[in-house]
Amino acid sequence: MDQVAEIKQKLDIVDVINSYVTLKKSGRNYKAVCPFHNEKTPSFMVSQELQIYKCFGCGVAGDVFNFVESIEGVDFPRALEILADRAGVKLIRSENIDTQSLIKKTIYSINELSTQFYQYVLLKQKTGEKALAYLTKERKLKEETIKEFRIGYAPDSWDTLYKFLISKKIKVEDMINAGVVVKKLSSDGYVDKFRGRVMFPLVGVDERIVGFTGRTLFNRDPKYLNTGDSPVFHKSFFLYGLNKSRISIKKEGALFVEGQMDLISAYQNGIKNTVCVSGTALTDNQLVILSRYTQDVNFCFDSDFAGVEASYRAIEMAERRNFNVKVVVLPDKYKDIDEFLKVDKEGAQKLIKNAVPVYDYFLATTLRRHNKTTALGKKAIAEELIPLFSKISNQVLLDHYAKKLALELDLSEDTIFSMIKKRSIKDYDYEEIEEADQKLPVEKQQTEGYLISLVLKSPLDLAKQYVKRLKKTDFLNEELGEIFEEICDCLEDRKTDIKIKTLVNRFDERKGNIITELYMWDLEGKDGFEEGDLEKELNVLTDRVKKASTRRQLKNLTSEIKIAETKKDEEEVERLSKKFEKLSKSLL
Ligand SMILES: [Zn+2]
Repeated sequence: MDQVAEIKQKLDIVDVINSYVTLKKSGRNYKAVCPFHNEKTPSFMVSQELQIYKCFGCGVAGDVFNFVESIEGVDFPRALEILADRAGVKLIRSENIDTQSLIKKTIYSINELSTQFYQYVLLKQKTGEKALAYLTKERKLKEETIKEFRIGYAPDSWDTLYKFLISKKIKVEDMINAGVVVKKLSSDGYVDKFRGRVMFPLVGVDERIVGFTGRTLFNRDPKYLNTGDSPVFHKSFFLYGLNKSRISIKKEGALFVEGQMDLISAYQNGIKNTVCVSGTALTDNQLVILSRYTQDVNFCFDSDFAGVEASYRAIEMAERRNFNVKVVVLPDKYKDIDEFLKVDKEGAQKLIKNAVPVYDYFLATTLRRHNKTTALGKKAIAEELIPLFSKISNQVLLDHYAKKLALELDLSEDTIFSMIKKRSIKDYDYEEIEEADQKLPVEKQQTEGYLISLVLKSPLDLAKQYVKRLKKTDFLNEELGEIFEEICDCLEDRKTDIKIKTLVNRFDERKGNIITELYMWDLEGKDGFEEGDLEKELNVLTDRVKKASTRRQLKNLTSEIKIAETKKDEEEVERLSKKFEKLSKSLL
C-alpha cells in the first residue's frame, strides 16, 4: 500500500474536516457551513462512507488531501506532511518530494542573492544612480522606504547578474528555474532576464522572495516585466504587499491599488492596508486568499474606470465572494493614487477613507449622465444599470438597490424587479450559483434524482419494494433511468443494505459522479425521518414519476392517434384509443 492510501485508511475525513469546521450529522452524511464560500444555510456535505466532501453552493469537492490543500492553502507535498503527521505515519521521503523541495530551496536562495545584488547596484554603484534618482526625485520615495521594500536596480548590461551568480557557485540550470537568467535566443550562452529595470522583489507572506517585477528605466517594452510562474511563484495566487499589509488589512479591510508604485507610495504615506496584483488581472484565487484576512475590500480606480471591463469583473468577482465592495474614484486630474498622494496627501487620505459602496457609485454616475425625467433618459439609465444590478448575488443588497432605482426613476418596484429577473435568466451562470445557494429545490424540480437519492438511503426491504413500481423507461432523464436500472439489479441479489461504495464502483466515471452527488444531497428532515415517513415519501415520489411517465405516453399516443386518423386507419385508431383509455385510468 502506498503512503497516501495508508494515510487515507488511518484518517477519517469527518474527523479531519471537523477540526476546521463543525460538522453536523444529517442522515447518512454530515454537513456544515462551507468554509470556502460565504453562506448562511449549510450546503457543504461530507460523506463518511465515500470519504469525500462536496459543497452544493460553490462546487468545491474532493478527498481529505484536497480539503487540507485548500483550507491550509498548501501544495500536495505539504498536505501530505500535515496528514501523515496526524495519522502517525512516518513518511518515507520519496525522491520526487526531496528533489522538489530542494529545487524550491535553491530558487529562494537565488532570489535572495539576486535581490541583494540589485539592491547593492541601486544604492552603492554608479550604474544605479539614474534609477535611484528616478525613485527618490521623481517618485519621491525615501531611502528607508526603498530599503524596506528591498527595491533594487538591474544594470543595463547583458550578464552582470549571471556572472555574479556564477561567482557564487550557482548552477545555470537553477538560475533558469528561478527565472532571473534566460538562454540566449540567437546563440549559445545566457543573459540576465531583467536589464535596465528598477526591481521590485515579490515577497511572500513568509518573507521569502518568490520572484520579481522589473520596471523599465528606458521606456522599453514591456513597461513592467514579471517573473514567470515557477515552483515557488504562481502569479494568479500572489498578492503583492500582503506580507506587510495583512495585519492592517485584518483591522481596516483591504485597499486594492493598480500597481507596485502606488502601493509603496501609499505605504510611505501611512496607508498600510494595500495590496495589488502582479502581472495579472485580479483572480478568484487571490480573492480567496484575501478572504482569510477580511471581507471588506475597496478598489482604487482611475476616474475613467467606469467603462473598463476589468474593473467590473473585479467588482463582480469580489461581490460574488461576498466581500463588501467599495470604490475609491480618483479625481480626473490625477493619473493614479501615487500622484494624488504626492500633490495632496490629506485629500488623498480623506478620499480613501470615504470610499463609496460600489453600486451607489454606479447609480450616481449613471444618473448624472442622463436625464431621468424623460422616457428616453429612464430607458438609458435602466439599460446601463439593470445588467449591473442583476449581477448582485446578495438578496438584501439587490433588494436595496432595485428599490432605490425604482424611486429615482419614479417607476414601480415590480417593473424594476421584473427587468432584473429577465436579465438574470440570461446570465445563467449567476443564476446557477444563486439557485445552489438556496435550499435544495429537489422535490419540485428534480423528482427523478430525488427519488434515486432516497432509494439509496432507504433500508433494503423498503427500497426493493418501491423500485419494483418503476421501469427504466419511466425516467425522462435517460442517464437517471440507466442508473435506476443498475440499482434495481444491484438490489435484487442483496441481503443487506446497499453499500454506496460498492454501488459507485459498478458505474463508469460519469455515472459514478452523478450517483455520488445524489447520495450527498442533503435531504434534511427527510432522510433522517422515521421509517413511516420515509415510506410515505417514497410512495409519493414513485407515484409522481410514474404519473409523469404516463402523461408522456398519453401525449405520444395522442399524436399517434392523430396520424392514424389522417391515414383513415380505423383499426389502428381503435387499438390506440383502447390503449389510451386504459392508460388514462391509471392516472386516476
Ligand atoms: Zn462552498
